[in-house]
Amino acid sequence: MAPQGSRAPLEFGGPLGAAALMLLLPATMFHLLLVARSGPARLLGLPPHLPTPEALWSPGALLLWLTWLGLQAAFYLLPAGKTPLCLQMAEGQELKDKSRLRYPINGAWGWALSLELRGWGGAPGFQALVLTALLVGLGVSAGLPLGMLTEMLLPLASVATLTAFIFSVLLYLKALMAPASALAPGGNSGNPIYDFFLGRELNPRIGFFDCKYFCELRPGLIGWVLINLALLVREAELRGSPSLAMWLVNGFQLLYVGDALWHEEAVLTTMDITHDGFGFMLAFGDLAWVPFTYSLQAQFLLYHPQPLELPMASVICLVNAVGYYIFRGANSQKNTFRKNPSDPRVAGLETISTATGRQLLVSGWWGMVRHPNYLGDLIMALAWSLPCGVSHLLPYFYLLYFTALLVHREARDEQQCLQKYGLAWHEYCRRVPYRIVPYIY
Ligand code: NDP
Repeated sequence: MAPQGSRAPLEFGGPLGAAALMLLLPATMFHLLLVARSGPARLLGLPPHLPTPEALWSPGALLLWLTWLGLQAAFYLLPAGKTPLCLQMAEGQELKDKSRLRYPINGAWGWALSLELRGWGGAPGFQALVLTALLVGLGVSAGLPLGMLTEMLLPLASVATLTAFIFSVLLYLKALMAPASALAPGGNSGNPIYDFFLGRELNPRIGFFDCKYFCELRPGLIGWVLINLALLVREAELRGSPSLAMWLVNGFQLLYVGDALWHEEAVLTTMDITHDGFGFMLAFGDLAWVPFTYSLQAQFLLYHPQPLELPMASVICLVNAVGYYIFRGANSQKNTFRKNPSDPRVAGLETISTATGRQLLVSGWWGMVRHPNYLGDLIMALAWSLPCGVSHLLPYFYLLYFTALLVHREARDEQQCLQKYGLAWHEYCRRVPYRIVPYIY
């Protein structure tokens, strides 16, 4: 049995905050789904019509959702087969017992090999996206009514929420049998509500199948762009062709998801994998929140078409490009440095030594602000909302929510870095005083 009562300070307002978030997050998701299709599309205030039970639940949605999870799980497992052409593995961060988990970073069989031979690198995770696109393309050409998916968003969100809840219960029970070394730093307070929300076990696995790693990037992220695509198809069915605004939102978000899947290995050094347990927070976030709320701008555009002229569209593309440049530059610089500090791309950067033996970058992107990757991400979030015009606040929900999330996440990360690096972190904060936005915050 795992020991109870770790001394990690409680986050998210403790058990009360965790309980409130478990109600508030699903309620917000359903609220957004309902108001996006309503005439006034008001972010604040009740949706004009509350849904009937039939609108919230359908056996077809359950079947579709389970098929989707099964398909993505199959794509995840493919490279784990025994074929000689498979498999690239990456090592995770060091765990409490000094071991490191190994993760498949795809490279699925012949497909990966052909990408490798073309010099495209491992294309980690990307293959699941491409295989999904191929399957969906085949389906559509065979008459699959993809646009109909937009009529099923509510019941699909219900089954995704239910799945996340059941999954979290199973994860909680599984963690009762996990060794102490497998537990997350937080999420083991002894309070069942708090621990259920935060997650007790760090990287729960069923055999080779890593539950968190799978959920973080596959069904939710790929589901998000599939929902976007369905909204685009539906708009074409209703209005003859997709609007420029819809193309931009689809394009920007596909770039974001494609990038995350291409750099799948980078998730291994993120807080989600190295620090947070796998509980309701991540399970709901990955499986339900991401696909059904991150597609909000495309949902809004389907029901509230917005005119967008080419000059404005070009400016918005530029904003997205600037955001992406900062985001990718900062994330790649840190990942390269963490993998190999002597890599010529980062070897010339100034660093601070820490008592742990690890170093902190203090020039380059990480010398500009302490979280340049968050800055780039926020600029992109703005670019995703701008095609929706300025008549409604609703499509800016993502930007508002994401700002709050990243400010909170940055504060959590600071605490963790302070614990890890002590004086060296103070020195880093002195040398790089701004957190996310230069000269402002
Ligand atoms: P980060 O990638 O920002 O990693 C933070 C860690 O980086 C720190 O804990 C520390 O870990 C290391 N670090 C910090 N400063 C330095 C430095 N100066 N030099 C070297 N290493 C440093 O963590 P996140 O997981 O929060 O974010 C990853 C990406 O995911 C970001 O781009 C973020 O915007 C995005 N994201 C997107 C979300 C979404 O919903 N769209 C949600 C959350 C994040 P160590 O020293 O141990 O390596």
